[in-house]
Amino acid sequence: MPRTAAPPLTSPVPRAADSDRRRTNASVVLRSVLEHGPVARSTISRLTGLSPASVTDYCARFTEAGLIREAAAPRRSQGAGRPHVPVDLDDSRFVVGGVHVAVPYTTVAVLNLRGQVLAERRLKHEGHEGTEPASVLECAADGLVALLDEFPGYRPLGVGFAAGGWVDGETGTVVEHPLLGWREVPARQVIGARAGLPVHVDGHARALVNAERLFGRGRGSRSVLHLFVGNVVDAAFATNDAVHHGPRSQAGAIAHLPVPGGTEPCDCGRTGCLQAELSERTLCRRARAAGVIAGVNPMRVVAAAAGGDVRAVGLLVERARTVGRAVGLLLDVLNPERVVVTEIGIISREDCLLALREAVGPNRAADVVPTSFPDSVLAMAGGAVALDVLYRDPLSLPCRDPLSLPAAPN
Ligand SMILES: [Zn+2]
Repeated sequence: MPRTAAPPLTSPVPRAADSDRRRTNASVVLRSVLEHGPVARSTISRLTGLSPASVTDYCARFTEAGLIREAAAPRRSQGAGRPHVPVDLDDSRFVVGGVHVAVPYTTVAVLNLRGQVLAERRLKHEGHEGTEPASVLECAADGLVALLDEFPGYRPLGVGFAAGGWVDGETGTVVEHPLLGWREVPARQVIGARAGLPVHVDGHARALVNAERLFGRGRGSRSVLHLFVGNVVDAAFATNDAVHHGPRSQAGAIAHLPVPGGTEPCDCGRTGCLQAELSERTLCRRARAAGVIAGVNPMRVVAAAAGGDVRAVGLLVERARTVGRAVGLLLDVLNPERVVVTEIGIISREDCLLALREAVGPNRAADVVPTSFPDSVLAMAGGAVALDVLYRDPLSLPCRDPLSLPAAPN
């Protein structure tokens, strides 16, 4: 090509940059309403650094789409002071569905735009089909559709699907979940076909880091690490709203990170891997060996501890301390501003939280907090996948009436 050939004025590059900027600005404005609403448009302009005209345009667009509405005006406001009339999220129109697949059961849930869980249901994996993927996913889709039917006044925007293990959001696939025995399971395709809704898929550690950023204690932090300790142990890391994925979303697989002082043999052939050491199965086995519980339900250990069983307390505190050592390793490597931990003992017991913080050390102990969603963490994981998509690109939501669509704001 001759060097004199100037790029055409309609070059796709600036256009793409333009639409990226619009998407980012729209996301910032809607999240500002989520965090601060009811909030005046003039305040949003001040908080976001966007021009008042631009904020007004985005707000008009969101009002049209049914995402926000004007809240009751403060008494002193006159008609001419429209920028000072506060706007707030409109949580009366839309919901999202959430699906989370754990080893013993699937959770289906309905959430509103504030990330509040309106309803959730547990579907046990039992019978001869157990955790067979097609049966689990079809059951989840049917259970979710039935739950959404209980909210006839709301329009479901989509479904978020989350699971532990290795999940690839781009292809909508659970690539590998050894504890479920799943490989290359097309979760998006199966649930989408059955539920008739768009389905967004992500690993649950990343889903929960997004939930913390949007609705929890991660708000306002420039970097957040979420560590999930259940049967699966994994982590997700977000900096400046970007969640690290890695190729095929394999980032966050810390199952075989060696824990200092670990003694538990792992399937991989080594000893003291994080997941082998900390999984709820290991906790239950140790609790059975100590005569604390009979079955495989880790909540029984928590209940025994609450009832004053000192062996149960000891097992939970020791586990929290090991989690603390793992958090210490992750702090050294990634240095996040905030670490959020989801683990049953730390969620429910002050002595476990103290043991965790003690193991982390005095410098960073205060930056380590338990999950913001102790009562509905799995429902939140599923729903947050769909809500994150909405908050990242709110302009993608079609307006209620396309004819009254305002001009796209800049
Ligand atoms: Zn291992």
